[in-house]
Amino acid sequence: MIDYKGHFDAAIEALHAEKRYRVFADLERIAGRFPAAIWRHEGGAREITVWCSNDYLGMGQHEDVVTAMQSTISTMGSGAGGTRNISGNTHPLVELERELADLHGKEAALVFTSGFVSNEASISTIAKLLPDCLILSDELNHASMIEGVRKAGCKKQVFRHNDVAHLEELLRAAEKGRPKLIVFESVYSMDGDIAPIEAIVELAERYNAMTYIDEVHAVGMYGPRGGGISERDGIAHRIDVIEGTLAKAFGVLGGYITGSKAVIDSVRSYAPGFIFTTALPPALAAAATASIRHLKTSSAERDGQQRQAARAKAVFAAANLPVMPSATHIVPLHVGDPDLCKRASDRLLETHGIYIQPINYPTVPRGTERLRVTPTPLHDDALIDTLRDALVETWNALGIPFASERPAPAERTARITPLVVSQAGG
Ligand SMILES: *Cc1c(COP(=O)(O)O)cnc(C)c1O
Repeated sequence: MIDYKGHFDAAIEALHAEKRYRVFADLERIAGRFPAAIWRHEGGAREITVWCSNDYLGMGQHEDVVTAMQSTISTMGSGAGGTRNISGNTHPLVELERELADLHGKEAALVFTSGFVSNEASISTIAKLLPDCLILSDELNHASMIEGVRKAGCKKQVFRHNDVAHLEELLRAAEKGRPKLIVFESVYSMDGDIAPIEAIVELAERYNAMTYIDEVHAVGMYGPRGGGISERDGIAHRIDVIEGTLAKAFGVLGGYITGSKAVIDSVRSYAPGFIFTTALPPALAAAATASIRHLKTSSAERDGQQRQAARAKAVFAAANLPVMPSATHIVPLHVGDPDLCKRASDRLLETHGIYIQPINYPTVPRGTERLRVTPTPLHDDALIDTLRDALVETWNALGIPFASERPAPAERTARITPLVVSQAGG
C-alpha cells in the first residue's frame, strides 16, 4: 500500500526541519489608509503597519484606480466571459494594450493574467519559434523566467549575475548563425541592484542576439513616465521585448509584454498560457489603465518613494542596522539565519504591530536571509522612525548582529563589480 498522506507529511516536515516552512499572516488592507491594515490572529484583531508591500506607490488604493474599477464593474459586470479566443477582446483590454505599447514606445503589447504567466508563456514561446535557440539567462532571474526557459526546451546557459564579461564569453563561444535570446531583469527585487542594461544591449547588438527584459520591479517607478529603467536610461528602443506587471507599482493584477508587432502577434497566436485561459476581467484592465495613465504624468509618487527609501536607508544605517547596499527603492536588512529571520518577523508583528515578511531560502541564497523593507510615498518620516526603534529593539532582543558586528558579505563585492564597471563606462 502506498502511504500517500505520509509523503505529503514528510514534504512539509522537511520544510519545518529547515526552518523554512511558510506561514501567511491573515491581513485586511484598509482602503484609503495605506499602509495600515488589520491583522487577525487567534487572540483577536489589531491594526498594524505593512512595511513590505509590492504595492510600491500605494496605487492599489488611488482614487482614479478604485473609481475606474468600480465604474467598469457597474457597466460591464465582473468577469471577461471566456478566453479571448472565445469571447473576443473586451474593450478595456484593447485600451490597456495601447497604453502599454505607448508606455514602452513599442508597436504592440499583450496582456496576460499575471506577470508570472507572461514570463513563462512568452520566453518559452519566443525561444521555441527560433530554430535551435540558445537562451542566455542571468543566474538570479525570477522563478517565472526560469520556468519559461525550462519550458522552451532548448539549450540554455546561465551567466553570473550582472556579469557582462561572462555573458560576452558565452556569446563569443556560441555559433555565429545560431539564434540567441538573452533574458534578464532590470531591478532585482531581493538585493535592489540594477542590471547593466546598456552593456547587455550592446553585446546583444554585437553578437546578434534578441533581448528580453523583466521590468516588473521598475515599471511605474522609474523613467519620466514610469516606463522603467529602460526608459530612464533611454534604451527601451534597443530592447526587443519588455515585460512588466500590473500588480506591483500599478496596484492591480495582470502581466504583459511589449515589442514589435511580429513578436507580439506570434506570442498571441502560439502561447498556450495566453490562448487557453480566461482573459483579465474588464474592471481590472480599466483600473490598470487608470493607474498607468496617472503615473505617466505624475512624478509625485515616484519622487516620494525615492525620498522615503533614501531616508529609511540613512536612518537605519545611523542606528547601526545592517542595511544591504541597494541602488533602488528596496531596503534589505541582513539577518543571515532562517530561524532568526522568521523570529524577527514574528516579533515585529506581535510586539510592534509591524508586518515585514521574512525572506529565506530558496528566494535568496542560504546565509543571506533578510528582512526586505519597501518604503512607499505613504510611509512618512514618523513611521520610518517608529520602524527603526522596533528594529533596534528586535535586534537586541534576539541577539541579531548589528552592522558593526558583522563582516560585509563577500558575495556582495562580486556582484557590485559589474555595476561599477558599467557606470564608469556609460
Ligand atoms: C513578482 C514577479 C513576477 C510575477 O509578477 P506577478 O504579476 O506577480 O505574477 C515576475 N518577475 C519578477 C521579477 C517578479 O518579482
